[in-house]
Amino acid sequence: MLVCAAALALAPTAQAQNSARPAPEAATGWTAKAAVVAAHELVVAAHPLAAQAGADILAAGGSAADAAVAVQLMLGLVEPQSSGLGGGAFALLWDEATRKLTSLDGRETAPAGATPALFLAPDGKPASFYDAVIGGRAVGVPGVPRLLAALHARAGRLPWARVFEPAIRLAESGFAITSRLARLIAADKFLAGDPAARAYFFEPDGTPKRAGTVLRNPGYAAVLRALASGGADAFYAGAIAADVVAAVASEPHPGSLSASDLAAYRVIEREPVCGRYRAVTVCGMGPPSSGGVAVLQILALLERFDLAASRVGTVASAHLLAEASRLAFADRDQYLADPAFVPQPVAALLDPSYLAQRAMLISPERSLGKAVPGELPRRAGALAPCCAPDASLELPSTSHFSIVDRAGNVVAMTTTIEDAFGARRMVRGVLLNNQLTDFSFLPERDGKPVANRVEPGKRPRSSVAPTIVLGADGNPMIVVGTPGGSRIIGYVAQALVAMLDWGLDAQAALELGHVVNRNGATDLEAGSAAAALKDGLEKLGHAVNLAELNSGLHAMLRRGGTWIGGADPRREGLAIGR
Ligand code: GLU
Repeated sequence: MLVCAAALALAPTAQAQNSARPAPEAATGWTAKAAVVAAHELVVAAHPLAAQAGADILAAGGSAADAAVAVQLMLGLVEPQSSGLGGGAFALLWDEATRKLTSLDGRETAPAGATPALFLAPDGKPASFYDAVIGGRAVGVPGVPRLLAALHARAGRLPWARVFEPAIRLAESGFAITSRLARLIAADKFLAGDPAARAYFFEPDGTPKRAGTVLRNPGYAAVLRALASGGADAFYAGAIAADVVAAVASEPHPGSLSASDLAAYRVIEREPVCGRYRAVTVCGMGPPSSGGVAVLQILALLERFDLAASRVGTVASAHLLAEASRLAFADRDQYLADPAFVPQPVAALLDPSYLAQRAMLISPERSLGKAVPGELPRRAGALAPCCAPDASLELPSTSHFSIVDRAGNVVAMTTTIEDAFGARRMVRGVLLNNQLTDFSFLPERDGKPVANRVEPGKRPRSSVAPTIVLGADGNPMIVVGTPGGSRIIGYVAQALVAMLDWGLDAQAALELGHVVNRNGATDLEAGSAAAALKDGLEKLGHAVNLAELNSGLHAMLRRGGTWIGGADPRREGLAIGR
């Protein structure tokens, strides 16, 4: 028996802490988008210029991996609040020639100088969220530059320097600030506190730059040129690395990230986690992301119900999704963390008989209320030591893109600097992440260590869920992912159910109002059709919370020989294919 009763009693506190946190990358409206049909190649990304950069690279004969590098480099320029060279990412890569799926972990790591008390205030209590976020303390060693190099080394077709061209050109010539970026700059309380960010995002009189203003980023262009000629090493050693270290070390809240932390950074290739769902195989990112395991658990728990019969948009379907999700979150919070530090019982968590037993806890008639973690089957693999659960929340400021090339290679990549504008520290035109706040602020509860506590060299638990579904014929059939903090898991699970059970295409699936449960109240997307489910869900015993649920789902669905691309109407993204 693995579960600690004392620790579980603390879950409501953690839940309260979760719901108290604001969403940093605010909603900025809804733009209707049409599904894009493509016979050969397709890119879906969070900004039209990033999607275009990827599409141009594909049109020039580049592979999905080449396009992924170009998209990421462009996003770091035009969607700087969400991702960039100063952050981390996870990528799934389907290689058509070998018919193999792999996953690359480019998650940030805690510096060697980080301690479990990193986010404790002098009185021993957890620091307030923004005290922890702002400055150098939460900056983890960025993983994106090396991840891009790893993607290119494995599956690039064009020369490395060639895929840098679109972003270098635009960083030098300038791009117009979108209305979303302008609103996020204007709304941010901390960005102007950093002199480099102030000079870049604000007018000399201190007013935030407005939509349509042309932004040039020569510092970023120079960093890109250095990487284009020197490889990713140019980021991890030498002058750029020295500037990153100096920026992290500056007041307020200096961090300990050092030149040797940067030099030691490695991308880790991992087996993706995969599971069957009805006739298909769903694959995602394993630990240190909780995304793949949690999405697979949700689907497996739903398998005993006929979701097609309970239909899209009904109380019955929303109830089942919410119940499966609360069970998955109970396990996620208890067990999942960096596998290099905490043994991860992935096989046990995905064991079919364990999940069949867990699914029996779901009643179509009544919410089960707060779920507790399951007792994992010992035969299904090593068990984690008894740790206290962690319900620390990742907040939505992230980007996901999905790409298929004409040879059939696929990339699904979710990339993040954590909070909007990350640590609000800008170095050479690059914003640094605050990813270490994805660790639990509390190192222990009731004398038991929290699995996801800060430790030197450790990767904070993530929720990102880049997902590739292999159809019954073994070929990639769905590619999807999203930002959304820990709500990522629910957004992805619902999008998959929408495409697999309700027959929606990749655009219609993203337009459904969100229904999310993280083992507390059931969140319904305010202003959407899902909001009308409130009374019905309350009658089944759910506490219901109406909220702006600001996903950024970017999906592709194969039907027959063609791909259909969908971009989230809640953000500025675009699908471009041909
Ligand atoms: N930092 C989060 C994670 O890695 C992602 C935040 C977001 O989606 O906005 O799980």
